[in-house]
Amino acid sequence: MAETTQHIDEFFVYSHIPMVAVDARKHIVFCNQAAINTLDISATSVIGQSIDKVINNRDVLALFNEEAPHSADINLPDEGGILTAHLSPLEGMGAVAVLIDTTHQHKVDAIKTNFMNTIARDVRSPLTAILGYVELLERIGSLNEQQHDFIGRIIFSVHSITAMLTNAMELEKIEAGMDTGKEIIAMERIVSYTIEGLKKRIDGKKQACEVVVDEPLPQIWGNPIRLRQLTTALLENAIKYTAEGGAIRVEVYAESDFIILAVSDNGIGIATDEQPYIFEKFYRASNVNDSSSGSGLGLSIVQSIVGQHDGRIWVESQPSEGTTFTVMLPCYAE
Ligand code: ADP
Repeated sequence: MAETTQHIDEFFVYSHIPMVAVDARKHIVFCNQAAINTLDISATSVIGQSIDKVINNRDVLALFNEEAPHSADINLPDEGGILTAHLSPLEGMGAVAVLIDTTHQHKVDAIKTNFMNTIARDVRSPLTAILGYVELLERIGSLNEQQHDFIGRIIFSVHSITAMLTNAMELEKIEAGMDTGKEIIAMERIVSYTIEGLKKRIDGKKQACEVVVDEPLPQIWGNPIRLRQLTTALLENAIKYTAEGGAIRVEVYAESDFIILAVSDNGIGIATDEQPYIFEKFYRASNVNDSSSGSGLGLSIVQSIVGQHDGRIWVESQPSEGTTFTVMLPCYAE
């Protein structure tokens, strides 16, 4: 047992992943060599020192001022890269931060977003022209049934491309921190408006939609448009990836200082090894085929919105059994 503990200790000390732990007074209790190198810590002895005496990086100091659990991006100076830091509570002690190098992921993400936005801007006007002319065809003369059918398919496809481009542009706006105006919001109201808006689709697939709201609920501080987007995207997926006659359940309740929103379905589910990737831009899991509508951007948008509300999101899913997305948003505190 003592040997195992020693191996675990050595793992943390020699790990290439930077880790820093502090006690309740924010004095360093652990800091491995990887953290010393990455954060350019020059002090010779760091243990027992107050974190702000040893670490200069503002993002790291801001991270340790947050209540764990919390995640944030840390920018290293002189274009040294970006780390994604996860701060977790250490029961009865303090908190530990694990810093993962996500520079490459951020670069790839930026390339994807730029690429999509260039396309989005260049392609939108020709698409509008296509739609305009196709719709005119029906007005200039009578068409047979097959021609009608083909026109319907063209219009559907153009609408799908337009929706995808709109999503890409939305994501850029959210990531750039545009229209983040926040107000006090009752989450249950956002949920009920969303369900009202999607009722036709739910009924169209003869699905049962159960809504459980644990009232009275504390309010949250959020952007109503973005939160509506978030609930809509999660519910649209539940509808889309659940068979006709399936069941959807939406739960809203409070836990500690958070509002929890859980959207569950008994649909096709997601394979365990694919679950870590579903929030990435354009990622579509192998449970969907090419002909099913979607751009793989919906969950990236959801994740960005959750991030802008200092929340967390995770998925639990079993193939052929169903999926639950859980979102945790901090309650409004004056
Ligand atoms: P899409 O436009 O493909 O729906 P999303 O970003 O919303 O893109 O979701 C990414 C992928 O995650 C989907 O393509 C699908 O494979 C999977 N997914 C999302 N929600 C569900 C769900 N409720 N049930 C099963 N699979 C889901």
